Amino acid sequence: MIRLEGIQRRFVSDEVETTALDNINLNVKEGDFVAIMGPSGCGKSTLLNTLGTVDRPTQGKYWFDEEDLTALDEKELANFRAASLGFVFQSFNLIDELTVEENVALGLAYRRDVKDRRSRVTDAMDKVGIAHRARHYPHQLSGGQQQRAAIARAIVGNPKLILADEPTGNLDTANGEQVMNILSGLNAEGTTILMVTHSPSQADQARSRIEMLDGRIIASTSRAL
Ligand code: ADP
Ligand code: MG
Repeated sequence: MIRLEGIQRRFVSDEVETTALDNINLNVKEGDFVAIMGPSGCGKSTLLNTLGTVDRPTQGKYWFDEEDLTALDEKELANFRAASLGFVFQSFNLIDELTVEENVALGLAYRRDVKDRRSRVTDAMDKVGIAHRARHYPHQLSGGQQQRAAIARAIVGNPKLILADEPTGNLDTANGEQVMNILSGLNAEGTTILMVTHSPSQADQARSRIEMLDGRIIASTSRAL
């Protein structure tokens, strides 16, 4: 489903040049659950942002379902993201002024083709156990509830791929496990997941593992799908 070939991402700021991704080659099969590990600053978030097409590589090719995404313009990429991707972040990134159900509905905002929006939003909230907080605002929720609402927003459009950047990084153990169980359940239903984590036990729950260092992939292992 995913093929990266020779992906490089260089940042230049204040005349300091950083190579955040240095010749990354990666294949991910549909249905995989990949844990991405490595020390702070090694390029994990840049890799996820590249896969999410919210950051553009300075070199290399990105193929998704045989389509060369590096050839698409911004509008085409926005359509690709809306149709195929769900994002989950460490800091939840909910909109404070919107209720849970309004936040979840944002996951459909760029989709013209979607019918039955209400039932889709309700289904997504049910799936992560947050429907009973539909009319609440983010500040009225615990961290775990906020992250479940954010996952509902990520899955409401029925994405093929979920990109999760340290999704349990701000949660206690119990809530972190709950989020992992939700992600594992989504993967069992066929959603492909790439997740950045610092937790070896979470990486063990994934099917595959990538270790990064200084912008490179230094090791990768995978279990059969
Ligand atoms: P990680 O998520 O593994 O902690 P990042 O992908 O965030 O690492 O960052 C990788 C490297 O790229 C770091 O050295 C970081 O400072 C640099 N970097 C990331 N984003 C930017 C940016 N927008 N501008 C300049 N440098 C950046
Ligand atoms: Mg990061």
